[in-house]
Amino acid sequence: MKILNNSFTVSTGKRNEMVDITGKVEKAVADAGISDGTVVIYCPHTTAAITINENADPDVVHDILLTLSALVPQDKDGYRHSEGNSDAHVKSSIVGCSETVLVNNGQMQLGTWQGIYFCEFDGPRKRSVIVQITGQ
Ligand code: ZN
Repeated sequence: MKILNNSFTVSTGKRNEMVDITGKVEKAVADAGISDGTVVIYCPHTTAAITINENADPDVVHDILLTLSALVPQDKDGYRHSEGNSDAHVKSSIVGCSETVLVNNGQMQLGTWQGIYFCEFDGPRKRSVIVQITGQ
């Protein structure tokens, strides 16, 4: 069994944005050269996240960001965190900092409409994504 670590950067252009990173993860899996195993996609930031959702209709991403911003307003009476980005921290915890995808015959087992997204909640920034591939 092999364990391979990889990483890449994502430059975001808006305060709230979902960037499709499926192709970058696919490349990391291909470079690892495994047939079967798993890939963990990890976000080492407290105001960003990783999720898997539809990458066919861009309105889905729009609606996810719209809903998160309605649930977690940028300004709210009672926020204490002095950086002024409490909403971004809350969104990061709601969405989560990692996803795991199964790899079979060298291919990630994503559904037809699934893509892997880096979720920015306090951009624009230059971010890192860590990928760990375990398999044989
Ligand atoms: Zn903060």
